[in-house]
Amino acid sequence: MIKFLVKDINSKGLDYNQTLTMEQLGLTSEEIDLRSPITVKARIERIDNLIIARTKVSTDFGYMCSRCLEDFHEVQEIEYYFDFEVTPDLEFVDLGEEIRQEMILANPARILCKDDCKGICVGCGVNLNLEKCKCK
Ligand SMILES: [Zn+2]
Ligand SMILES: [Zn+2]
Repeated sequence: MIKFLVKDINSKGLDYNQTLTMEQLGLTSEEIDLRSPITVKARIERIDNLIIARTKVSTDFGYMCSRCLEDFHEVQEIEYYFDFEVTPDLEFVDLGEEIRQEMILANPARILCKDDCKGICVGCGVNLNLEKCKCK
């Protein structure tokens, strides 16, 4: 959980740098495939009636290639920018929840292990990146 009290955020800003588990960010393995803990770096500032959070999230994303169905993984750093309007009712900003939603939304359903992935032969089922097709 990454929450900040609005009263603690002033124009000098706050820095946040923590490594969290999926559970701590409220992510489940059904929602997203991550192979390492998640490092979150954030700079949070208040400018007038706006709280601005510049966030960098890095972790090892697991994928399945949509062409050859091989499992692969890649460490990526993703930048997110959030802003929150300060209203009289706003006591805290929940940066963790914003990150959780963005990570689920950004998780691509179709991704290739490499741009020129040759895929699987529909005839014999071999992974054409690794083997030659045995079809006649
Ligand atoms: Zn592939
Ligand atoms: Zn074949």
